[in-house]
Amino acid sequence: MLSPDFREEMTALRQVERLGFSAADVRHIVLTHLDFDHAGGLDDFPHARVHMLQQERDYALQQKTWLDRQRFRPRQWSTRGNWIVYPSRVGEPRFGFDAVRQLQGLPPEILFVPLPGHTHGHAGVAIQHGGGWLLQAGDAYFWHEEMDWRIRAARPACACTRR
Ligand SMILES: [Zn+2]
Repeated sequence: MLSPDFREEMTALRQVERLGFSAADVRHIVLTHLDFDHAGGLDDFPHARVHMLQQERDYALQQKTWLDRQRFRPRQWSTRGNWIVYPSRVGEPRFGFDAVRQLQGLPPEILFVPLPGHTHGHAGVAIQHGGGWLLQAGDAYFWHEEMDWRIRAARPACACTRR
């Protein structure tokens, strides 16, 4: 359904290596959520601390439904001992969001922004860059037109139905 690209050179590890670094150089991973297509490469970075919202970890670990067991795959989580979790509702109001927070061991230019919905503990990552802020929104939305209120008002539909 998602048509993932299975070429090894597309893995995060190979892309990091192409930049001249090794897996051991990766010390922090800020994870938006634990869907298999986002968490599948965690085991390639055994020395990294993995930051995520507590609600994401707790819900994924429950493996409640058939769908949960398809999307959250514990066999991808051998680095679980390196996970650092944060309460979802603790943080400061910022950028119009309720609970934006800093992450342990990371500079204040990298912030966690809870964006629940796609998963229970889904989060975005705000990164200060070039005098402004970028938001890595994970799977909070799938198509840029979803963020344009004029288009959304005219054609309210999930982007996944237009693919
Ligand atoms: Zn997802």
